[in-house]
Amino acid sequence: MIDFKIGSPYPSSDEEKFQILKKLPKFNSHCHLSGEIPLETLIKFANQVQKQALKNAMTAISCGQDYEKAFSIFPLISQIINTHEKLKEATYQTCCSFKSDNNQIVLMRTNLKSLENRDYEEYLKTVFEGIRKATSDDFNVLLMLSLKRSSTLEMAKTTIDLALKYREMGVVGIDISDISTIGDISILIPELLRAKESGLKIAVHMGESPLEEDQMLIINELHPDMIDHGVNLCKDAKKWIKQENTPVTVCLTSSIATKMHDSNQIHPWIKRYLKNNDQKIHLGTDDSTVFNKCLTDEYFKLYPDIGFEKVVQIANESFKLAKWIRSQAE
Ligand SMILES: [Zn+2]
Repeated sequence: MIDFKIGSPYPSSDEEKFQILKKLPKFNSHCHLSGEIPLETLIKFANQVQKQALKNAMTAISCGQDYEKAFSIFPLISQIINTHEKLKEATYQTCCSFKSDNNQIVLMRTNLKSLENRDYEEYLKTVFEGIRKATSDDFNVLLMLSLKRSSTLEMAKTTIDLALKYREMGVVGIDISDISTIGDISILIPELLRAKESGLKIAVHMGESPLEEDQMLIINELHPDMIDHGVNLCKDAKKWIKQENTPVTVCLTSSIATKMHDSNQIHPWIKRYLKNNDQKIHLGTDDSTVFNKCLTDEYFKLYPDIGFEKVVQIANESFKLAKWIRSQAE
């Protein structure tokens, strides 16, 4: 039930605004399973040393970390979620956490791992089990399998084969993430083209660092279906996204916490949306546990800059488009 419609009088207090945003059915366009596992679940499975390391890492991130340093928490999360049983429970609890914030459609990304010496396919099947337990009429996860620019060709082949094999389980595409300045993506291009030609969508983390040199290579070769972050883009990349109206995922907290841009600046794709309402933008949490922000927090953070009505408009338009993406995946 949406209590607020465009044109309605503004709710007066911040608390009312927050509650309205929380109740909106939302599309979480950009999140990674590892970074979304609720803290209580991580603590439940962590030993004493890991608990302390987790606390230290999260304190460091909350104080603002360089982009590359923020990634150091992920090996720790992998150490904690190290069995299939823990993975299944962690995936289920992650979905429950999305549901509690009324994220009704979630585009979640995960890289394939080998746990307990079992293969990648088994990892994927365990993730499906966790998701299936939480899936309902008003909660769906669309999955993207992640690769890095530094992934091997063999890993890319395996990942894409599994993505194609399990499309009916909700795998919609391949995500290129991790540190964007490391690795040579040109090696993976033929495989990524195979994925695309077979109907998988391609989302690419791009513009995380101004030092990326592969932005136009990726755009020219792959024509990505979605750009993640897109903060520090070269002129031609920005131009292409605008021309094609390629959807951009916007993660407000993570882009500031990892110093993609200064906290006193408005995210460039929010600015673009304000200029041109047709620009497709979708908010996402990226790693809500790591950054300690749910999707409602992300929308709420936006309203002092652009006004409450625009925030609701972005959320509604994003959700409408996500319903369409979900219907295409069925
Ligand atoms: Zn991300």
